[in-house]
Amino acid sequence: MIFYSTKDKNTRVSLREAVMKGLAPDGGLLMPHHIPLIPKAFFNNIGYMSAAEIAYVVASMMLEDEIDPQVLKKIVADTFSFDIPLREIFPGHFALELFHGPTLAFKDVGARFLARIINHYNSSADSTINVLVATSGDSGGAVASGFQNLPGIRVFVLFPEGRLSPLQIRQFATAGSNIVPIEVRGNFDDCQRLTKEAFSDRSLCESVSLTSANSINICRLLPQMFYYFYAYSQYLSATGTKPAEIVFSVPSGNLGNLTAGLLAKKMGLPVKKFIVANNNNDVFTRFLDSGEFQPKIPVNTVARAMDVGNPSNFSRILDLYGADLQTMRRDMEAFSFSDEQIEAAILEVYNSIGYLLDPHTATAWLGLQAYSPASPKGIFLATAHPVKFADTMIRILKKDIFSDHRQYESSLPPRIQNSISPALPALKKILLSST
Ligand SMILES: *Cc1c(COP(=O)(O)O)cnc(C)c1O
Repeated sequence: MIFYSTKDKNTRVSLREAVMKGLAPDGGLLMPHHIPLIPKAFFNNIGYMSAAEIAYVVASMMLEDEIDPQVLKKIVADTFSFDIPLREIFPGHFALELFHGPTLAFKDVGARFLARIINHYNSSADSTINVLVATSGDSGGAVASGFQNLPGIRVFVLFPEGRLSPLQIRQFATAGSNIVPIEVRGNFDDCQRLTKEAFSDRSLCESVSLTSANSINICRLLPQMFYYFYAYSQYLSATGTKPAEIVFSVPSGNLGNLTAGLLAKKMGLPVKKFIVANNNNDVFTRFLDSGEFQPKIPVNTVARAMDVGNPSNFSRILDLYGADLQTMRRDMEAFSFSDEQIEAAILEVYNSIGYLLDPHTATAWLGLQAYSPASPKGIFLATAHPVKFADTMIRILKKDIFSDHRQYESSLPPRIQNSISPALPALKKILLSST
């Protein structure tokens, strides 16, 4: 699979280069030149296949020419070593629970796959590769867990001061000696901007080899396509009918998960609509409404992992649709929800059936209701385990629902050695001094 840059269709970048560099040489995001179409017959058998089997079929169509099939099979099996159940929580509403991985959020899928691919390419090299990741909360832990103790790989986790739960900080700050946490005195967009600036800093890139573990790295996105197919397969088994088309509600921040879904549709997954569920950071919702993309300074919300004002994957979506607003509106519908609405949804669902929605998942559930209020039907992505936001959940429900999860009880996170102002020189100093 060869990739091009969203800034120049004529670029040709190999998978290896795409993974090891993160961005195209011109600073654009990478997209596959050719998106293969899955044969129709695949969908006849899909109901009988496991997550790893489905993932392997899709992965091999995209990557087989670059990675030995046996190696790829193992990478995929290792990535999907945990369950991704589809649960019918109300008649016709299904939660795709993506949070049963080691760090309890869907980001484990992308991070585990990426770590294994980087390790595959790096294991024969004798230099150290430095992985940068900006986190709004969940990527940090997932990436740290994926790369933990891998030789020749060092991970720098940039996170915004004061925005993460103690559990989230602990997940990366205690992951291993090759994981370096960096607190940034700014917001998530500052963290994201800093990593981008690092990748385009010539002198820095000549001194150290750098790549990204954010969803700007195409290998974070590719494995996220797989679970959309797996969701479809479980939907077939659960409903016993072959739906012509299906609806997915995706709680969105940086739009990585959404982009992966759109790519899955391009490969032939029969999706009627993607519902894009935003919190008060509604840049994408406004874009679909008005046709204008206006990044903003993010506001703090109860669904913090989606507090993104300048979503990095927007340029991929624009590219995928050739900037055609009509087609985008045919495939996607977006809604934004306030903290009050999100909190009310958590309460409502808990009180009526005892199911816990974390604030991000609650946003996706609201999206499904807003899309078809009369008879909401479809799959909403459950992106984090509620225990990850224990403090928030306990405040909203006014009940200590996690009493049997004492190990998650909030305690002080470890002290972070590196705290920097949101400017490149401070980050550079850390990157260069640890070589
Ligand atoms: C990161 C995250 C999101 C948003 O996903 P994007 O791919 O950035 O749009 C949603 N929910 C949770 C729990 C997250 O950690």
